[in-house]
Amino acid sequence: MCQPLPGILDDPSRRGYGSPVLIRGGRVVDVDGDRSADLRVGADGRVAELAPSIPASPGEEVVDAGGRLVVPGGVDAHTHLQLPVGRVRSSDDFASGTAAAAVGGTTTVVDYVTAYRGEDPLAALATWQRWAEPAAVDVGLHMTFTEAVPEATVAACVERGVTSFKLYMAYPETLQVDDGVILDVMRSAGRHGGLVTLHAENGSAIETLRRRALAEGRTGVVEHSRTRPAALEGEAVARAGVLAELAGTPVYIVHVSSAPALAAVRAARERGVQMLAETCPQYLHLSADELAGPEGEDFVCTPPLRDPWHQEELWQGLADGSVHTVATDHCPFTSADRRSGVRARESGWRDFTEIPGGLPGIETRMALVWEGVSAGRIGVADWVRLCSEAPARTFGLWPEKGSLRPGADADVVVWDPAAVQSLDATALHMRTDHSPYAGHRALGWPRLVLSRGRVVARDGNFVGEAGWGRYRPRRPRPGARG
Ligand code: MN
Repeated sequence: MCQPLPGILDDPSRRGYGSPVLIRGGRVVDVDGDRSADLRVGADGRVAELAPSIPASPGEEVVDAGGRLVVPGGVDAHTHLQLPVGRVRSSDDFASGTAAAAVGGTTTVVDYVTAYRGEDPLAALATWQRWAEPAAVDVGLHMTFTEAVPEATVAACVERGVTSFKLYMAYPETLQVDDGVILDVMRSAGRHGGLVTLHAENGSAIETLRRRALAEGRTGVVEHSRTRPAALEGEAVARAGVLAELAGTPVYIVHVSSAPALAAVRAARERGVQMLAETCPQYLHLSADELAGPEGEDFVCTPPLRDPWHQEELWQGLADGSVHTVATDHCPFTSADRRSGVRARESGWRDFTEIPGGLPGIETRMALVWEGVSAGRIGVADWVRLCSEAPARTFGLWPEKGSLRPGADADVVVWDPAAVQSLDATALHMRTDHSPYAGHRALGWPRLVLSRGRVVARDGNFVGEAGWGRYRPRRPRPGARG
């Protein structure tokens, strides 16, 4: 859907790392401002120079970015690539998922390792690092604990560049930990410069609602959202705020999906708790109405899609700064796996609890948040901050990522606000056969995407290679006591 631009790095031999590139005449937007400037990418894959006017050197590739934005590559701080879920697995691996990310303007992903109960978290980390080797853009990893851990484990993760720790307040059978464990991990993480990220839903109350629905024969897809009401998300966020206050640490709430949850975030922040909130494009653009449709299975994610009015509240939260980042929770499945269910039954899922939850989104995030810029809900600088700068800072990747300052990684997106891109599955690169945004044409898409100075996507096509991405250890937060 993206027509090629003549003159933009047409020569495939010039794509590589090591050939300096001068991006001229673009509107450069990053933390240092919004201005017309030229940007030189050095042969070392870093930003070499950023100035109002830079004369081209002999033999240097020149990209005309007139009429386009030049922004730091997106940082998606919440993905689940090749994640095992019951007897199925999320359908993008690190190669396909990061290629799709690159096409959509995201040049760093931070994926969640899960250490299941009884598993050694460091062994799980080693597994994920191996899985991540074919990545096409840079990768960081978060750690998920599903039971209490000694402080030494937290410290060992931080040493390996894993400085954020996810805990679930939901899914009692497999993932949930109790409030005591949350408090304990918050304190351990705080001592070593780590940050706790929380999936905030009241899992035990939800479990009761789910059991009651099944007992009453309510088994359809819509029960997924009915048994996970927004009030129980709000309650968990409020409780998370109290725990963070007691621990004296910041806390990051993943995938805030509803107005009650956002209200709880604001309340915590107002009384001085350092609470950071993430939302995802699906909560900004989709509603629970989709679950009642003929393809309802394709819209199951957790927290569930909400009634449409919550979207407006979340956009407000992005505009006023109470929502800090936008990530994807990218966790795609094929239509077949959604319909066979997590127990992989040939006859299909028997009730809504067997449908694998998660949506594709790693490729479409930048465009779907950009729609808020087009609609006047947020500014261009907000878009850069929410999608790139804030996640890079929060998760210890700043200023190599999320910034265009000289010395930063040359992860650069030349964004064309006039490019039209179909969001049908066939027009995208994520490894799944359906799209939650089918039929939608996005206005705004990358023309050119560089990862550490190398062109990895151009005009809607992936031109990078598997294995180009590097594992990026992340720094602990300043002020750690450990
Ligand atoms: Mn997730």
